[in-house]
Amino acid sequence: MRRRLATPRCPLRPGDPCTLCVPGATGPQDCQTVRFVMEDPELREMLQAKRAEWRAAKQAS
Ligand code: SF4
Repeated sequence: MRRRLATPRCPLRPGDPCTLCVPGATGPQDCQTVRFVMEDPELREMLQAKRAEWRAAKQAS
């Protein structure tokens, strides 16, 4: 039986798959941009707001 692996999602672009847009990244787990955003409290807060907007827009559609 063949199993399909789930495509990792980009934590920075809610709803979008990881496209390996950062050189050297093999996924969100070692993406330097994700790490940079998660380590910065201000950027992390902006990301949380963006995710909340995305969830609200998804529920409305
Ligand atoms: S490489 Fe990083 S920034 Fe690019 S899509 Fe994947 S997780 Fe997102």
